[in-house]
Amino acid sequence: MKVLVINAGSSSLKYQLMNPDTNEVICKGLVERIGIDGKLTHKRSGKDDFVLETNMANHQDAIKQVMAAITDKEHGVVASMSEIDAVGHRVVHAGEFFNDSVLVTDAVLEKIDQCVELAPLHNPPNILGIKACQEMMPGVPQVAVFDTAFHQTMPKEAYLYAVPYEYYEKYKVRKYGFHGTSHKYVASRAAAMLGKPIEELKIITCHLGNGSSISAVKNGKSIETSMGFTPLAGVCMGTRSGDIDPAIVEFIATKENLTVSEVLNILNKKSGVLGISGLSSDFRDLLGDETPNKEKSMLAVDMFVYHVKKQVGLCAAVMGGVDAIVFTAGVGENTEYVRKNVVEGLEFMGIKIDPVLNKERGYELDISAKDATVKTLIIPTNEELMIALDTKKIVEAK
Ligand code: ADP
Repeated sequence: MKVLVINAGSSSLKYQLMNPDTNEVICKGLVERIGIDGKLTHKRSGKDDFVLETNMANHQDAIKQVMAAITDKEHGVVASMSEIDAVGHRVVHAGEFFNDSVLVTDAVLEKIDQCVELAPLHNPPNILGIKACQEMMPGVPQVAVFDTAFHQTMPKEAYLYAVPYEYYEKYKVRKYGFHGTSHKYVASRAAAMLGKPIEELKIITCHLGNGSSISAVKNGKSIETSMGFTPLAGVCMGTRSGDIDPAIVEFIATKENLTVSEVLNILNKKSGVLGISGLSSDFRDLLGDETPNKEKSMLAVDMFVYHVKKQVGLCAAVMGGVDAIVFTAGVGENTEYVRKNVVEGLEFMGIKIDPVLNKERGYELDISAKDATVKTLIIPTNEELMIALDTKKIVEAK
């Protein structure tokens, strides 16, 4: 089976052609500067990148160029688009409409559209990506895979905010959680690595990247996650503050003569480890030997570590225990310092890592110490594969 995975942003579009039966990536690429001018970079293993700069006015033009690259005589990987069995789309927000991936119909598109006010930057380009594929590949099934869906299993006491209940009823103000595709993927890989059914496991999944979230996955279901109504909540991140006292928003707005949305912009784009270090949102810069202002940089990293550790404790508490902790995404997969310090002091819970194994990075590995009763695992995330697998499942069940 061949599944095209599409992740459409406002001016960019990532694609991967995958075989979900073998997990093979047949080709992948990136379209940038849609609506500005247009650049496509197409990659196949063992071959040079194919780069095309051509005007792309909209997402339809971008999909047209992706199709041309995939079927190109010289650089392509299939003879014709009829070899593509289905398209899987990453969609950020499904509100309370969907708790799983779903075949796209007009009714589904309408619901995704209704969630635009919850994800104004993400859902509109996701919809454009779907519509462009529908037009350019008529008859090929399209599947939507949502970032929020996996967390729809959270109980009410976990997802409600203690504000007047009418705000939930009228506006659906609640915790949604994000990175669901990643949490779902690494939790299922963790179960496979432990050789146990996921239905019998309590897993804490730490997706630590530019954006970070930590989830409690009990018996295969997300019952708690650190992000909230938006991806601003939870632990501090590259540029996002994570949880703060909401009263700070008005206080800073008054002191600095800013509007609420200006303060929120600062909390989203100029806070987190960037805001504390004054240097960078990238952990490689903060942990580098040459880093200027090492003290502030390490303070930023240590605050991040502290926030993640608090979430690990929270997740263990709400699950009534833990069998495995997973580190994934850019920071989680690559950063020895962060992993070491997140689990340090958690020996009382049975969590202990092998310092030599913890030096490894970037591939699936059990880094637990021999006497640990809780497994600590590095698992590279693979949201595209999860999207391809969900797409296959839905198309085959059709
Ligand atoms: P995104 O949330 O944008 O998908 P990623 O999961 O790719 O982000 O994570 C990006 C972050 O991962 C970078 O900002 C950087 O801080 C961190 N990172 C990536 N590679 C390394 C590395 N080799 N060592 C330390 N940190 C890394």
